[in-house]
Amino acid sequence: METVAEKKSYQANSNGYYGTFGGAFIPEMLYPNVEELRNNYLQIIAEPSFQKEYNDLLKNYVGRPTPLYRANRLSEKYQTNIFLKREDLCHTGAHKVNNTIGQILLAKRLGKQRVVAETGAGQHGVATATVCALMDIECIVYMGELDIERQAPNVARMKMLGAEVRPATCGSRTLKDATNEAMRHWINNPVDTHYIIGSVVGPHPYPDMVARFQSIISEEIKWQLKEQTGKENPDYVIACVGGGSNAAGAFYHYLDNPETKLVAVEAAGQGLTSGHSAATTALGTPGVLHGSRTILMQTTDGQVVEPYSISAGLDYPGIGPQHAYLYDSGRGTFLSATDEEAVQAAFELTRMEGIIPALESSHALAVLGRLGAGLNETVVVNLSGRGDKDMSTYMKYID
Ligand SMILES: *Cc1c(COP(=O)(O)O)cnc(C)c1O
Repeated sequence: METVAEKKSYQANSNGYYGTFGGAFIPEMLYPNVEELRNNYLQIIAEPSFQKEYNDLLKNYVGRPTPLYRANRLSEKYQTNIFLKREDLCHTGAHKVNNTIGQILLAKRLGKQRVVAETGAGQHGVATATVCALMDIECIVYMGELDIERQAPNVARMKMLGAEVRPATCGSRTLKDATNEAMRHWINNPVDTHYIIGSVVGPHPYPDMVARFQSIISEEIKWQLKEQTGKENPDYVIACVGGGSNAAGAFYHYLDNPETKLVAVEAAGQGLTSGHSAATTALGTPGVLHGSRTILMQTTDGQVVEPYSISAGLDYPGIGPQHAYLYDSGRGTFLSATDEEAVQAAFELTRMEGIIPALESSHALAVLGRLGAGLNETVVVNLSGRGDKDMSTYMKYID
């Protein structure tokens, strides 16, 4: 993990800006909380005792390093060298726990007794409830009332882990309403509560902090690829983007290495022009969402457009500010995959490699045929999560 503020071209400056994106656009009431975090996070995560506890937990609790697996049959089909970074093998089934482990250790060192989080599909809620159980810290998860109905298994998991799940009953009763409720809770309990955001979004320092916790992904890819191929830099790194945390972690150590192409895949839903999509860079414009200036899907008068994707984890109307900058500067290549393409890619991986991927990760797999990667090139796909949670969707495609 990166522990000191180094001056790098694609990283946040001290005010949390990536080019013109980022910053901290928050109500005055939230200033003390965000300031406390901003003033302390770099120093705390650099402490040897923090590093030791974080690394021990990643190794012995999460199960890191996760394997880097050469997918032989897939490589044969696409006539290139495809490696899968197996974040699906992390405890709780996805990369999200890399971040919640880091943030719970930070919360403890800041003397917090309670954690609050928002969740859409429940994946971040489960990863948060998990680390709160581990550390014996009270956990409150806000979730849209509609999502509570749609995601019953994850609600049950959070409750079994001891979290309190509070319904957000305003608006569309989904993720953005849960985020508002969680923020409100944080404003009212600034001294004893830490807010764990689940992706590289939100006001500075969250995007930078979450990216650092996820940067373990590319840190491992480097030495694992070197071990297997003799060189540490692939030609392509591909990752799906909801808010962008798994992508930020997979890209992190390659940002300043222009030979490695960084490919971000957004959810096109039923198609870019269908009105049911979550392809933020294709459809969005600059604006402020959840405390930072970024690119988001909005109407001409600034109303946030409801996103849609078959995968709950990509069903978000914005992207993190670093991704907005990677898109704007041309450093990142932003593609999209439809629901249909993602499901096809999920079945392809399952039948060819015996790995059932999360629907989110399947979007990254869906662009393999479009890269133009050659026989001598190396492609790393970040397999962000496993597909167990998506079986009810996949079953509809099996007869
Ligand atoms: C939540 C989730 C995502 C999307 O979140 P990012 O912050 O964009 O990584 C992707 N894959 C899986 C498996 C998830 O659970």
